[in-house]
Amino acid sequence: MELTGAADCINFRMKTVFTFTRERHDMNEANSGKGAGRDFIRAKIDRQIKEGLDPKTIQTRFPPEPNGYLHIGHAKSICLNFGLAEEYGGKCNLRFDDTNPEKESSEYVNAIKEDVRWLGFDWGDRLFYTSDYFDFLYACAERLILAGKAYVDSQNQEDIRAQRGTLTEAGRNSPWRDRSVEENLDLFRRMRAGEFADGAHVLRAKIDMASPNLVMRDPVLYRIRKVTHHRSGDKWPIYPMYDYSHCISDSLEKVTHSLCSLEFENNREIYDWLLAALDTFPSRQTEFARLNLKGAVLSKRKLIQLVREKHVHGWDDPRLPTLRGLRRRGYTPEAIREFCARIGIARADNQVDYGLLEFCIREHLNRAAPRLMAVLNPLKVILRNYPPDKVEWFDLPLNPEDPSAGSRKTPFSRELYIEQEDFMESPPPKFFRLSPGREVRLRYAYYITCEEVVRDAQGKISALLCSYDPQSCGGGSPDGRKVKGTLHWVSAAQAVRAEVRLYDRLFTLDDPDDVPAGQTFLDALNPDSLRVAEALLEPALAEYGPDSRVQFERTGYFRVDQDSRMGVRQVFNRIVGLRDSWAKIAGKE
Ligand code: ATP
Ligand code: MG
Repeated sequence: MELTGAADCINFRMKTVFTFTRERHDMNEANSGKGAGRDFIRAKIDRQIKEGLDPKTIQTRFPPEPNGYLHIGHAKSICLNFGLAEEYGGKCNLRFDDTNPEKESSEYVNAIKEDVRWLGFDWGDRLFYTSDYFDFLYACAERLILAGKAYVDSQNQEDIRAQRGTLTEAGRNSPWRDRSVEENLDLFRRMRAGEFADGAHVLRAKIDMASPNLVMRDPVLYRIRKVTHHRSGDKWPIYPMYDYSHCISDSLEKVTHSLCSLEFENNREIYDWLLAALDTFPSRQTEFARLNLKGAVLSKRKLIQLVREKHVHGWDDPRLPTLRGLRRRGYTPEAIREFCARIGIARADNQVDYGLLEFCIREHLNRAAPRLMAVLNPLKVILRNYPPDKVEWFDLPLNPEDPSAGSRKTPFSRELYIEQEDFMESPPPKFFRLSPGREVRLRYAYYITCEEVVRDAQGKISALLCSYDPQSCGGGSPDGRKVKGTLHWVSAAQAVRAEVRLYDRLFTLDDPDDVPAGQTFLDALNPDSLRVAEALLEPALAEYGPDSRVQFERTGYFRVDQDSRMGVRQVFNRIVGLRDSWAKIAGKE
């Protein structure tokens, strides 16, 4: 039997070409700069190599703070850091920046490790924790005190803040700034010994309260916090600040390229100052623009709020841009890596279209996912001239563009389901699907003609009585007759019921913070971001277990969710439709 009629084939291809070219255009916009050459970081490294840098000594690191789950923005940083090391034959460390014990936990550490591995990166034996350097960091602080470059300030946080000055006004020196080295050392040792209450003293760098860079106005290096750390326990009553520990940890690990997002640009000066003051390995910081994704929030604080206040069902809610959410939705590591490659690395802040992420998963699944049929809003079709007890089992390709994908058996019988939206009783001129008296093709099967509409007691359409043309088996034209529509279908008797979770965007605005005064990003939540429906599947679909990704012909890509109970009830998450729905919402179509 001929599997695909030529017209059928063209119909489907045209759709693909259309989608591809338009999205290609969007993508290029989002990715201006790519194609113009290497990004500025790679260009810089290339230059350094020309000037004598041994590429094997290139050392990067991904430094997450274990205080939340990773999101797509972190993926950009992971792909950059691990990707660079891989490309140049250098190394990349995974280092947990765990200096804020109140907010951190080993639950997050484990989740982050799992997510980095899932994305496809391997830190080998280079797993580090800033907390492992606490002794070393402490020793460095004593060295700074001995060199007259740090002092203990006994003011509270508010006073310190009040003396800091502004962008146009110099700060004022602390009354404790000129303590002797001996006194500073004594106080700092007693801070370390746990003699003082939280907030009684801090250790500050002695730099310049009139510096035009506010970060350089005697920044705090250590504060007292009597909290248990998830790794070092109660050993330390004092903890180092980010600006202090980050550069020293980099230097200790001989990080050559410390890549961080733009908001740390002002911190580069303290980074360099500390490493120079300690005369240690000169790690260098380079900033790049963080990823902003239209229609999503990537702030950890907001993500935590969405989860804690139960606006979503957890960190792995498929509507979230967390790596767990994306994974549960059905995104593949390949698609996310491709997305990160396409957005590129730039210095200027920018906004990336969610559509680009969807484009990447569609591209991957278009090649990789088997295509089967399922009906989401069923309308019964009865073929009056088809023998009542007959069942034909068609051998259908799982991917017509890739014969190696194999085939499955799909039953066909007298009673079928099609989508409600594929039928209209009084269709407008451009509606080419089924309507009274109209003939259409059932994908891979027969031509059918609608002869009669059956209604229930309420007047609602309950079934269509149709006839089929036995000569059109395989969906091919029996006598050159042309039909314009091709519908997917499932055979009623063998159909398997399943739950489908149809996700829409989580926020109604491209920028969820762009709400009227008095509102918050929570007011921009889309109340219809999740719709649960029941689908009818062709039986072969019931064989796909959790984590399988499939295409439901004409309706989208789906992933089998872990909530499925195989053999009882499967649950499918819609990853993405076959077309770019975001462009439509943004008013581009
Ligand atoms: P926090 O406010 O808790 O510091 P964070 O998002 O910066 O939140 P980190 O754990 O410090 O979280 O991030 C680890 C690394 O990932 C950092 O180097 C940071 O620059 C990078 N990163 C975080 N968010 C993004 C983003 N949206 N785009 C690119 N890189 C990011
Ligand atoms: Mg951070």
